[in-house]
This record gives sequence, structure tokens and C-alpha cells, in this order.
Amino acid sequence: MGEIRSIVILTGAGVSAESGIDTFRDGGGLWEQHRVEDVATPEAFARDPDLVQRFYDMRRAAIQTKQPNAAHDALARLDAQWTGELLIVTQNVDDLHERAGARRLIHMHGEHLKAWCTACDARSSWLGPLGDRPACPACGVAGLLRPDVVWFGEMPYRMEDIYRALNRADLFVSIGTSGAVYPAAGFVREARASGAATLELNMEPSQGTHWFDAARHGPASALVPAWVAEMLEE
Ligand code: NAD
Repeated sequence: MGEIRSIVILTGAGVSAESGIDTFRDGGGLWEQHRVEDVATPEAFARDPDLVQRFYDMRRAAIQTKQPNAAHDALARLDAQWTGELLIVTQNVDDLHERAGARRLIHMHGEHLKAWCTACDARSSWLGPLGDRPACPACGVAGLLRPDVVWFGEMPYRMEDIYRALNRADLFVSIGTSGAVYPAAGFVREARASGAATLELNMEPSQGTHWFDAARHGPASALVPAWVAEMLEE
């Protein structure tokens, strides 16, 4: 491998698992006892907005009681100290990366702690419930705020920025993600095609594990600090 200047890191629910936030596939296809199709699709929201809002209200309240773990802390340290290019692309909608201090971060699937007004398109910070149909702080219209999260079938955010970074990357690292949700699951092939070295850090081999040059399996709280220390030659 040549000199590494530019790193892209993809994270998934496995990074937050040890903070006590449920991953999705570890629940046997259920997410907090709900089938994903019943809570995380635009069709579900159209059919039963109260159920979907209650589900997200519960998750939004829960993540505010959780803390970043050693994996988030290590990635924030790498972000602060890596003098080359670096981008953390997270599929997670929790705010644990930024609470740990990460700055070069894209939330490709949106953020739990934001509400999106379908009347005026504004996005606002949101810590409380949406199920009681509050008014949008920007336009004042009540009842048309939804969680600012990307549901299955919707377009992830900032894909142009992400592909630009993947095409420049010397190293692509995938952490705590099952490799089941596209387009994120295809990032490893995009980075490889542009000549990047690729590394997987996950509890178990992901669905795309054979696309990676190297893989280490175990808990993120151990694997990520060890890898970051290697990168910073601590
Ligand atoms: P996933 O649930 O499909 O897969 C999680 C992966 O993490 C699995 O491969 C599992 O083996 C691994 N894992 C579990 N515990 C781990 C640990 N302690 N250390 C290392 N790896 C561990 O998650 P995904 O691939 O991110 O896709 C799920 C989708 O659901 C995403 O689109 C995401 O937006 C959403 N989601 C987000 C959160 C969150 O924000 N924290 C939580 C659940 C789901």
C-alpha cells in the first residue's frame, strides 16, 4: 500500500451498539419489536403516521440518555489529529459521533434530533416529541413535521460529496455495518475501483466481507481504538 493521505470511514449501527442503542439486524429483522416496513418507510408514514411518530419519539428520547463509547471517541481523536483528508460517513441517525467530538462527518441517513417540515422544507433541531403534532418553528404550520431521517426507498443525503471522497480515498474503512443496506453497502466497491485499500472492522463478517482487502472481527470498542492508534502511530 502506498502512502495514505485520504481516509473515508463508513460507520453503521454496530458502532453505537455498545452505547446501548439497538442495531437493526441483531433483533432478528425487528427493530424495537417493530417490523422495519411498519416504521421506516414513507408508505408506513402515509398509512399510520401516529405509529411512526411514536416509534421515532421513543428512539429520539432514548438516544439522549446514551453516551458515546470508545469507538466514537477514537474516531473523534483520529478526526482531530489526522492532518490529511478524512471523512466519516455514518448511516447512524444518533448524534454520538458529534457528541464525541467528530467534525468531518456526514449523516447520510439523516438525524434523529432534527425535524423536517414537509410544508416549508425547513430542518430544525428537535429534542422533544413530534407525535403531538407541533408547529414548525420556521413557518408555523402545525402537524407537518416528520423525523429528518432517510427511510427505506428514500434518497440518502449528500451522495455527490460522498462519492467524490470515495473516489479520492487511499483507504476505506467500514465499521459496524452489516453491508445489507444500499447504497452504503456498495461504497467498498466504489473505493476499490478508485484504487483505495479497504478494511472491515465488524463483530462478524459482513455480507460484503469478501470485497475488503483485510477484515478484523470483534467489538468496535476494542477494534476501533486499536486501529486508530496504528493510524496515528501512538
Ligand atoms: P445493521 O443493524 O444492519 O448491522 C449492524 C452490524 O454491526 C452487524 O453486522 C453486527 O454484526 C455489527 N455489530 C453489532 N454490534 C457490534 C459491535 N459491538 N461492534 C462491532 N460491530 C457490531 O446496521 P447498519 O448496517 O448500520 O444498517 C442499519 C440501518 O438502520 C442504517 O441505515 C441505519 O440508518 C439504521 N439504524 C441506525 C441506528 C443508529 O443510529 N444508532 C441503529 C439501528 C439502525
